[in-house]
Amino acid sequence: MPVPSYHTTCTRKELITRDVYELSFTKPEGFTFIPGKFVLFDIPLIENEKDIQTRALSIASRPDEEELLFLVKLVPGGRLSRWIVEVLKEGTEVRIQGPFGNFLVDRKTMKEYLFLATGTGLAPFLPQIEQILKEGDTRTIDLIFGVRSPEDLFWIDRFTALEATYPHFHFHIALSDKEKTDHPHFCGRIQELLHAKQWELSQKNVYVCGSPGMIKDIKELCLTSWNVPKADLHFEAYI
Ligand SMILES: Cc1cc2nc3c(=O)[nH]c(=O)nc-3n(C[C@H](O)[C@H](O)[C@H](O)COP(=O)(O)OP(=O)(O)OC[C@H]3O[C@@H](n4cnc5c(N)ncnc54)[C@H](O)[C@@H]3O)c2cc1C
Repeated sequence: MPVPSYHTTCTRKELITRDVYELSFTKPEGFTFIPGKFVLFDIPLIENEKDIQTRALSIASRPDEEELLFLVKLVPGGRLSRWIVEVLKEGTEVRIQGPFGNFLVDRKTMKEYLFLATGTGLAPFLPQIEQILKEGDTRTIDLIFGVRSPEDLFWIDRFTALEATYPHFHFHIALSDKEKTDHPHFCGRIQELLHAKQWELSQKNVYVCGSPGMIKDIKELCLTSWNVPKADLHFEAYI
């Protein structure tokens, strides 16, 4: 079957931390998706616009929202990163393909939810968590957001607002830079925060998204030390 492709137009480009952009695009006619899916953007090389490669971005908006939302972490010299900084502006039209992926909320289990994200790995979790909460699911949901330092945090208002509305949703922050302590958050990596919490992880459905290194570590700990069954471990590595 041919991969569905669409044209979409950028409606907003905003730098929300020193190296993370939030982007909004129009939702093409007929484009539908489930939270957790990603799309492939056609990204031309700046020096030669005929040289096109695709880059994957997770959809950070819910299916019932009017526009598509994305988060992008800039990597120095990266094709997508340079294109966003130097070319993309309001009104830029781009081809996308998708939606793709199997990083979806598991509807077959009754276990509690544990979401673990580093950086822009938070993107698919926003629509997934919002949808779970809106559906009236009352199981405990814990979200741990890991970044290096306070300047790298974003979307704190969004998640603290959800926490205030839904008492069974808990938002935790882990800052890996242990030098900086002038903030109220946990100092250490996500793995260390999990260790400190002493949750019974074998009773949780675990979703992990972000840097490949963090995913490798968490996966290993879940399977070897924390007795999380393989079927309850879901991950999306931003390679
Ligand atoms: C399923 C999936 C979903 C994803 N979702 C997101 C998301 O929602 N948000 C997000 O931020 N990211 C996401 N990613 C990652 C994203 O797709 C890109 O891989 C990432 O943004 C880097 O793209 P880039 O084009 O800027 O860098 P690339 O051009 O791919 O370069 C990556 C690195 O290689 C280096 N490099 C490039 N060319 C060379 C060269 N010739 N020699 C030496 N080094 C070189 C660059 O400096 C850079 O450090 C996702 C990935 C996957 C697989």
